[in-house]
Amino acid sequence: MITAVYPGTFDPITNGHIDIAARSARIFHRVIIGIYALPKKEVLFDLEERLALAREAVKGYANISVEPYDDLTVDFARKMKARVMVRGLRVNGDFESEFDMAMMNNRLDPNLEIVCFMASPQFQFLSSSIIKEVAKLKGDINDLVPHNVINALYEKFS
Ligand code: ADP
Repeated sequence: MITAVYPGTFDPITNGHIDIAARSARIFHRVIIGIYALPKKEVLFDLEERLALAREAVKGYANISVEPYDDLTVDFARKMKARVMVRGLRVNGDFESEFDMAMMNNRLDPNLEIVCFMASPQFQFLSSSIIKEVAKLKGDINDLVPHNVINALYEKFS
């Protein structure tokens, strides 16, 4: 039984995130999306909102769940009994920061294997921040985020 955690801020969850979680769920028995409570970047959605949006968005996947955490990601993974940490890599700029983080996490817990998935072509340019910018100006974000997230964004910016 291999459990993977997929940690991040998810402010809010996008179809790019869901693609990575769904692809992980085809390989690992259980995937737990870990939503970090205390990111250094300013968030639009509070922890409860980010959790609710992500839970609604993945409710169709039997082996994907969503949990909050506020400690080191390696400690969260240990608590979830996960042997794997999943991250997504987009072509523009993710590699260096992911590499640094992977080296630190490997030092903190050498037993946790870090597995990176290449972002799918249609989601390479997609980030939570660009979605927030476009939604704020009432642009079309269909096909890029789940319906519940579209509604939540338009509500936030109304
Ligand atoms: P963080 O604050 O940890 O970067 P994010 O919520 O922004 O949290 O992202 C979580 C993970 O998902 C990161 O590994 C990030 O690179 C990846 N990710 C973000 N957007 C996409 C996307 N469009 N396609 C694939 N992976 C993505």
